[in-house]
Amino acid sequence: MNRDSLDKAVLAADDDIWRPHVTVATVVPKDGRFLLVEEDVRGRIVLNQPAGHLDPDESLQVAAVRETLEETGWEVALDCLLCVQQWRNAESGNEFVRFTFAALPVRHHEARELDAGILRALWMTREEIAAEAARLRSPMVLASIDDWVDRLQVATAATNMSHVVPLADWRATVEGGPHHMGTTRMSLTPSTGVVDPHCRVHSLDNLHVAGSSVFPTVGYANPTLPLVALALRLADHLLERSRR
Ligand SMILES: Cc1cc2nc3c(=O)[nH]c(=O)nc-3n(C[C@H](O)[C@H](O)[C@H](O)COP(=O)(O)OP(=O)(O)OC[C@H]3O[C@@H](n4cnc5c(N)ncnc54)[C@H](O)[C@@H]3O)c2cc1C
Repeated sequence: MNRDSLDKAVLAADDDIWRPHVTVATVVPKDGRFLLVEEDVRGRIVLNQPAGHLDPDESLQVAAVRETLEETGWEVALDCLLCVQQWRNAESGNEFVRFTFAALPVRHHEARELDAGILRALWMTREEIAAEAARLRSPMVLASIDDWVDRLQVATAATNMSHVVPLADWRATVEGGPHHMGTTRMSLTPSTGVVDPHCRVHSLDNLHVAGSSVFPTVGYANPTLPLVALALRLADHLLERSRR
């Protein structure tokens, strides 16, 4: 086989590879409710999490924050990757792989125009969402809420830290024992934290933070090992930067 026909064979084989739609979504809790959108999908009014397609050259995290803002007007801070879901739409035959993040609400931009097709953003309890099963855009909506609830129950049981939930009351619940951290929280945008994913202070080019204060959330286990890993990663990054 000559070079040309080999290239064509490789390209044809590449075309044959199955490719699902890659989408992102956020589960955003607030006061016992979850952020959803009501949207018009070809004349059918359905409920979904803030969700959408990954754009070219975009990270999954940036896409999740962007879609949430565009569809609901809510700026959110990602907490963790909650679940990776797979679903086939029986009507269209399209297959989806959805990366669903847990996120905290930060600020509501009320005046912001929502994406075309979005009728409104709304907050619903898990029970209200389950009662609307027929109107859910896909089974992924309720499944990811249940993943969020399961994760909370596991974390609560493992750490006996039920007070991680009501952020508004944090002053009343600070006590000895747990590791307090997060004062220079890592975030994608300056409005949701202090340092970027390379531990660099958002507003300054040459100031980096090596410490557990950059942890966006407190982990389940003691923090020193991940903290050392993060410091070594930062050292590698600074070395790389100094060579440029
Ligand atoms: C009693 C106790 C037991 C623990 N046991 C464990 C354990 O078993 N396993 C585990 O993983 N973790 C444990 N931890 C937690 C762990 O020690 C901390 O999470 C970790 O040390 C945090 O590291 P850090 O670098 O973020 O902060 P720190 O170690 O607190 O370092 C911050 C440094 O900054 C300095 N500093 C502060 N302000 C200034 C300033 N303005 N200018 C200059 N310097 C400043 C401080 O003096 C300090 O040296 C324990 C903590 C405590 C208190």
